[in-house]
Amino acid sequence: MKDLVQAVLNGERRGLARALSLVEDEMPEGEALLEALFPHTGRAYRIGVTGPAGVGKSTLVNALAHAYRHREAPVRIAVVAVDPTSPLSGGALLGDRIRMRDLADDPNIFIRSMASRGALGGLARRTEAVLQVLDAAGFSPIFIETVGSGQAEVDIARTAHTVLVVQAPGMGDDIQVLKAGLLEIADILVVNKADLPGAEELARGLRMWVSQREGQTPDTWEPPVLLVQALNREGLDAVLRAIEAHRQYLESRSERLRRERARWEETLRRELLEALWRRVQTSPETAALFRQTVQDVAARRVTPGQAVKTLLARIWPSSGSMDRQALRAEIVPRDSEE
Ligand code: GDP
Repeated sequence: MKDLVQAVLNGERRGLARALSLVEDEMPEGEALLEALFPHTGRAYRIGVTGPAGVGKSTLVNALAHAYRHREAPVRIAVVAVDPTSPLSGGALLGDRIRMRDLADDPNIFIRSMASRGALGGLARRTEAVLQVLDAAGFSPIFIETVGSGQAEVDIARTAHTVLVVQAPGMGDDIQVLKAGLLEIADILVVNKADLPGAEELARGLRMWVSQREGQTPDTWEPPVLLVQALNREGLDAVLRAIEAHRQYLESRSERLRRERARWEETLRRELLEALWRRVQTSPETAALFRQTVQDVAARRVTPGQAVKTLLARIWPSSGSMDRQALRAEIVPRDSEE
């Protein structure tokens, strides 16, 4: 285990690949590894790239990774491609690998494809674990590429520091439809396939949308709308500059720290809920109580509110009796690091 930790910290590929498999498969060794690596995380800059399938996300990430690699300062870049719709051996992932082939030969670029196995909540957790390992291994930036089709994928993209939402003309795109959920998380709006008709019009529509957003103050970041041809690698400099500008915006307003905390809040909330649910399921007694309670509620013998109270009291007996003062002291963090 110690060797594996060291291998990851040194960024050794084989050790890294093994470590990633362990955390992705949620093996006990993977858990221990994450614990050991955690103090070494928090350095990577995460760039989320999301948008509908076929708009050119993979092509764009490929091109951007390439551009980063050819800047003066040497960087080691990772790409995590999350595809919740395909099984691990599916065609889409194979496609990804083929598209990324020219990157895969570069020893300073690490590409990992992730697919869904089981629950989507699990996908978010496994993606976070993979990101932490890559972070500890010194990769930065790390691109997180997701299909922006469902809430889970949008949430995964949102864990990034800078989020690129990619659109393209001729995809039956209707800004009214896209608006829901996806555009809101954009720090940078990329109109890809600018070589195709309709790109300018799409960009105009998006700029209009940006200018009409509600709740803006002079201090709010205004997402730039950038026309790009990922395939011909045109317009990428503007994207790199926008990412850098957004990074500076985050740093200058402690916004990065705020986002980081929001991210941990979300993560811990999810972990807590899952731990609680595991606890219900792993003891035969509480599992039986849960089943019985479901029947009682369905038969209107107990209200859902009463049911939750009873279950909680059984799973976590001290929660009802612990006095508020003690509870506060236990869960309220010191704000000393503000
Ligand atoms: P993703 O599903 O969003 O990852 O999209 P891909 O990167 O797989 O690209 C989908 C298709 O769009 C591929 O056939 C790409 O070659 C094509 N494509 C990507 N960028 C451009 C571009 O700038 N212009 C044009 N015309 N096609 C592009």
